[in-house]
Amino acid sequence: MNKNFDFKKSLGQNFLKDENIIKKIVNEITATKDDLIIEIGPGAGAITKHLSALHTNVICFEIDKRLKEDLDKYKTDKLDIIYDDFLKIDLKETLKKYNYKNITFIGNLPYYITTAIINKITEQSNPKEIIIMIQKEVAERFMAKPNTKEYSSISVFLQYNYDIKKVTLVSKECFIPKPKVDSMVIKLTKKTDSKVINKEQFYKLIKDSFTQKRKNLRNNLKNYDKEKLEKILKTLNKDLTFRAEQLSIDDFIEISNNL
Ligand code: SAH
Repeated sequence: MNKNFDFKKSLGQNFLKDENIIKKIVNEITATKDDLIIEIGPGAGAITKHLSALHTNVICFEIDKRLKEDLDKYKTDKLDIIYDDFLKIDLKETLKKYNYKNITFIGNLPYYITTAIINKITEQSNPKEIIIMIQKEVAERFMAKPNTKEYSSISVFLQYNYDIKKVTLVSKECFIPKPKVDSMVIKLTKKTDSKVINKEQFYKLIKDSFTQKRKNLRNNLKNYDKEKLEKILKTLNKDLTFRAEQLSIDDFIEISNNL
């Protein structure tokens, strides 16, 4: 890489330089030759350079065309690099061009768009695994358990759909330039059993329940059938004075399925 490369903070450009961490990330990939790997933000190719060895189709999305010189050398007939904003591309349309069994997403993401990227990935595709480097505090929120202040609607949404595993903590020293925050690599693996009858209703219930985190269910679920809610909550040994953070994922499933 060009020694004078002007790292753009606005693009979350903190490139990995620690080969140990890079290996740990790559080792989590279970994709085989019938699968598809999508890398978001390959940068100068720290992770990318290991991907062609897996003999699967790989698509990388990098917004910064200045990295073309570094990245194009990793292109093969199976590894393509698209210089575009991942948040703007039509993911569904792109995926139509490929034959694959399962999708793996991988990336050391720009932290300020972590949630937007996860939303896009989960709304426009159905990945089997997502291996991402994110801000440590955000990772903790994703993995949070009920009755903690980190527990939020995204915890319920993600843990309902995925098993989430901490791969490794990553110190600031592992990057160039050093970021201000600590990072964590996590791996999300799609759960196969779906216990929810109506997913849309389930997601709406989660969102509504957490609208104002400090308020109780009576407040946040004002527009729901109060009697029905009370009845269901009673079977869970709870009532409308409980707050969303006191409900487990199974509680939310039970409420949604009985509404
Ligand atoms: N994966 C590399 C680089 C990580 S830095 C490594 O680990 O070393 C984050 C990368 O994401 C940068 O290269 C940045 O240019 C890119 N990026 C930022 N926003 C993006 C977007 N919206 N779409 C695609 N890539 C983006």
